[in-house]
Amino acid sequence: MNNNNFRKQAHQLVDWMADYLENIEQYPVKSKVKPRQIYEQIPTTAPNQGEAMTHIFADFEAQIMPGITHWQHPNFHAYFPASSSYPSVLAEMLTATIGAQCMIWDTSPAAAELEERVMEWLQQMTGLPSNWVGVIQDTASTATLTAILSAREKLTNNAINKKGFEGNANMRVYCSQETHSSIEKGVKIAGIGANNLVEIGVDDALAMQPKLLAAAIQKDIQNGLQPLCVIATLGTTGTTAIDPLKPIADICEKHDLWLHIDAAYAGSALVLNNYQWMIEGIEKADSLVFNPHKWMFTNFDCSAYFVKDKQALLNTFEILPEYLKTKVDTQVNNYRDWGIPLGRRFRALKLWFVIRSFGVAGIQQRIQSHISMAQNLAIEIKNHPDFEILAPTHFNMICFRYHPKGKNEAALNQLNEQLLQALNDTGKVYLTHTKIKGKYTLRLVIGQTYMEQRHVDKVWGLVQGLVSNLV
Ligand SMILES: *Cc1c(COP(=O)(O)O)cnc(C)c1O
Repeated sequence: MNNNNFRKQAHQLVDWMADYLENIEQYPVKSKVKPRQIYEQIPTTAPNQGEAMTHIFADFEAQIMPGITHWQHPNFHAYFPASSSYPSVLAEMLTATIGAQCMIWDTSPAAAELEERVMEWLQQMTGLPSNWVGVIQDTASTATLTAILSAREKLTNNAINKKGFEGNANMRVYCSQETHSSIEKGVKIAGIGANNLVEIGVDDALAMQPKLLAAAIQKDIQNGLQPLCVIATLGTTGTTAIDPLKPIADICEKHDLWLHIDAAYAGSALVLNNYQWMIEGIEKADSLVFNPHKWMFTNFDCSAYFVKDKQALLNTFEILPEYLKTKVDTQVNNYRDWGIPLGRRFRALKLWFVIRSFGVAGIQQRIQSHISMAQNLAIEIKNHPDFEILAPTHFNMICFRYHPKGKNEAALNQLNEQLLQALNDTGKVYLTHTKIKGKYTLRLVIGQTYMEQRHVDKVWGLVQGLVSNLV
């Protein structure tokens, strides 16, 4: 392909992209293909001779698109959204075209300096302490691992980085029973060991109980173990429960423990004043992560990691081989030292495009509108005699189930599993589930960037229509 062909193909692709987004509601939200169906269609060996782009693109439409789940469909209510938006897509096109590898300042000063600035913007927008610093990571999983590793090195004065675990095999990490699986993964990778992850009990709203946390830490100290780090979640993945930060932070301060806040999804709500109470006590915390790629209209991947002690981060990850030394190292941020990978994409560009294109007020308005639509629907569901809400609707995610009279728990679980299947089989909506205290629960997230009230009406209408056919 030469530049002329590229220009022609790219123009056609942009038309395809705009058509796709314009007509996205015509696709089945969740892909209907069977396991192995896509794989079997792809030739067993790579082509020896180059193929024409028209040919490749025809196969993309015929073979790949049927196996796509349409995350940008406004009736995608599953998991948490992986949001996108027009300005974000435009930036991704530029990022791909420029193709820069932004590991250090020298390898693209604009990437490093724009990242520093947009992270300051996000910090102000979300009301995080002004003495913290931010860096973009690929995912919240990586950011949390980064926090655990930093805590580990800070506690041991970089001994484990130097000597391995000798004499330090008794560290403990605390989180709630409702915490995301990435915490356990991080604890395993960091060498702490999954058996040293202590899951603290939750209250009726599924939030961590500080009293139980304090007791668990006390018990560990008595047993000669070494408390390392507490991970509090603002907006758990199962139900968007909110751990009470202030009492947790007080406990961490008392024992001098690293407090990491996993706000991967719900952190975006901090742009609204009436959610600032969630981070009361944050000045005693050490780090926080939230994902603009979930609920701030920025394409995956873009995870915002903020840390109080920049030096603890650098002490953990800094490495300076001769071939990476530059003359400006003392004046600039070399983000390869702020996390795990050396190589980095230019992710700040899409965030810059998104924040400028929507404006802070536009982002606030859209997030508030998602929350309002969800909370209004939650009231309707609550008022319906045959449905019930199973967890507080703190944000824009509703946990509910069908609950006709005269059914026992086993029958209700079966009915709701059938309901979820029936809903997803329509192809018009996509929801996922969780279990709350053994109860099969439907999770309905209202968070796709461009969704409107009519999409909420559609899913609620479908739910009510389908339950009459369940037996
Ligand atoms: C989604 C989620 C994560 C993981 O996010 P990734 O960016 O995919 O690693 C972690 N914690 C919570 C609470 C989440 O909702």
